[in-house]
Amino acid sequence: MRKLIIDARLNEYTGREANPNVPFSPEEIARDAEACRQAGASIVHYHARDPETGAVSTDVDLYCETSRRVRDVCDAVILPTLGANTFDTVDERFAHVDAMAADPATRADIVPLDLATTNLAFRDPSSGALLGDDLAYVNTLGLLKQLAERTAKVGAVPMSALWSVGSLRLMAAMLETGVLPQPHYAELSLTEGGLLAGHPGSVAGLEAYLAFWPEDLRCTWGVLCFGGSLLPVLDAIIDRGGHVAIGLGDYAYPELGTPSNADIVASVAERARSRGREVATPDELREWLASG
Ligand code: ZN
Repeated sequence: MRKLIIDARLNEYTGREANPNVPFSPEEIARDAEACRQAGASIVHYHARDPETGAVSTDVDLYCETSRRVRDVCDAVILPTLGANTFDTVDERFAHVDAMAADPATRADIVPLDLATTNLAFRDPSSGALLGDDLAYVNTLGLLKQLAERTAKVGAVPMSALWSVGSLRLMAAMLETGVLPQPHYAELSLTEGGLLAGHPGSVAGLEAYLAFWPEDLRCTWGVLCFGGSLLPVLDAIIDRGGHVAIGLGDYAYPELGTPSNADIVASVAERARSRGREVATPDELREWLASG
């Protein structure tokens, strides 16, 4: 998959304080998805949010309505979140993906699996305080196996979200043992803004992953930077043959003014073309994922 995949990370759990263009409602997310698709994105990643307040929502109807509206206006590959581990059971955690799968018009295309169990420790950038005493993100291997199985059952494709080299080694083992299918798309997490769990948001942080990338497996990688700018790493990603996962969900991108998600995607697509890489279409990505 040499053409550049751009995954537009539309909203995460991010507020509008730093950039008012973060989409909350299904209508806003669909409008943004369409604009990002036109600007060169092949994937749209979203979290359901309360349409009025932007509060975190686990409402399955919001997930379904959003994907229906996105499909109405564009052909982007749909990647909803799998949510944090605030649920007690796999059924609850997977409920929105199951509900989406009940209708081809709302089905998720890709489901993200976080291949890590990690502290969510946070160093407050302004005060320097070390926070998150009780915050851990738990994804046991047994749980990941169940999630991979259920993803296949609903006709979607699992994506690995990697937090460190340890995650990457786990992904390789899961691919080698057939727990995860090939070809496979993975996203490497860089974390800034105080979150300590991922690699630093720098070329060195990226290179540390790539030093251990399993070249013998049919998988390709994208990079995201949660809490900071991905732009300093962009040329390295493009030149090394990687892909880009970027958007207002991760960071407000004040260096681009007060951009929309589509503005950010457009600047990535332009940079890729200037360095000799065309952007992939959703159908080209689907075809590659299905070529196993
Ligand atoms: Zn997300």
